[in-house]
Amino acid sequence: MTGPGKDFPILAKEIYGKRLVYLDNAATSQKPNSVIDTISDFYRSDNSNIHRGVHYLSEVSSERYEEAREKVSSFIGADEPAEVTFTAGTTDSINQVARSLEPVLRGNEVLITGVEHHSDIVPWQLAGARLRAIPMDEGCDLLTDSIEITDRTKLIAVSHASNVLGSVNPVREVTRIAKEHDIPVLVDAAQSIQHIPIDVKDIGCDFLAFSGHKMYAATGIGVLYTSERFSEIMPARGGGGMVDKVTLEGTTYLKPPLRYEAGTPHIAGAISIGAAIDYMQGIGMDKIRRDEHEVYSYARERLLETDGVTVYGNTGQMCGSISFNLENIHHYDTGMILDKMGIAVRTGHHCAQPLMRTLGIEGTVRASFALYNTKDDADALIDGIGKVRMMYS
Ligand code: PMP
Repeated sequence: MTGPGKDFPILAKEIYGKRLVYLDNAATSQKPNSVIDTISDFYRSDNSNIHRGVHYLSEVSSERYEEAREKVSSFIGADEPAEVTFTAGTTDSINQVARSLEPVLRGNEVLITGVEHHSDIVPWQLAGARLRAIPMDEGCDLLTDSIEITDRTKLIAVSHASNVLGSVNPVREVTRIAKEHDIPVLVDAAQSIQHIPIDVKDIGCDFLAFSGHKMYAATGIGVLYTSERFSEIMPARGGGGMVDKVTLEGTTYLKPPLRYEAGTPHIAGAISIGAAIDYMQGIGMDKIRRDEHEVYSYARERLLETDGVTVYGNTGQMCGSISFNLENIHHYDTGMILDKMGIAVRTGHHCAQPLMRTLGIEGTVRASFALYNTKDDADALIDGIGKVRMMYS
């Protein structure tokens, strides 16, 4: 294998005797050797709990954990590492914001988009907020001119990139409009952090959420960026490691980021995000964006040219995912047959039921790309689709 694919040992695996064509990256990405080695080296030589120990190993693991925070902070252009909290993933990050802001959100409104993942819908409902979607055009692109903010709007929460369509939302335009009304904006970057260079100051958001496992790091670890102006919100979780003084009458909290990290965190996971950032920066985010775009556009064009294939969404700025269906063939059947050819895709509603309702379908086949995918992978997908269609003709 040539190119970055050679750094990912699982890609050398055969599935049913066929070369693995892994196109389920929006669900989770594979891990390069450097990340796998970092995780196992941590447990082999540095493992200890952080922040609380006076002994050598605790100091080493604390340093490595904080070093990972610094890497995340500079990777996303935060002002300082204190703006970066480690969470369990995008879902956890958004739930934490919903819980912290619940007193403001309850009985009020959160503005979202019609392409949101359930993770950017359900937490707001649990916090007692009503949801309203920013209007979209027929290709599911946001109509930012139609953003309507009322007295009840307390937050705008938008995905940077759709996990279904691959469309990139104009988050800068959203934050510009939100600022005019002094409304905070949360950006769900689960599907963009691994594809697009991100600068939170440039975007102008107050919260940014993403997961480690979709950006070549471990599962069970994620990030919540919180801008300085929200640095003193109520912690969503209480416990050890986040308090200053505890009495039975009341508790005072530490300053961020520890204020938001109750309990023992996923230390190896955080360090794996640092290793994943090193890996991506070793290639260069601009190069990743350029090279991925070439493969992504090629795959999309080939799908659009293929008879009997419906591709969903517009063709503006895109990254990562492509959703499609084959005429008269259930998405699940398509996915099952592709699997037998060694091609891993995902089928179903992709945790975006409101979007499926808008599209008037139950589900799609989703092929999603990462930095190691090649035009050969796209060709394998198209050949596979041809075979599925033959079987049904
Ligand atoms: N938001 C988006 C846009 C996603 O694609 C996903 C994962 N499919 C999530 C949130 C949730 O991520 P996680 O399961 O890692 O918490």
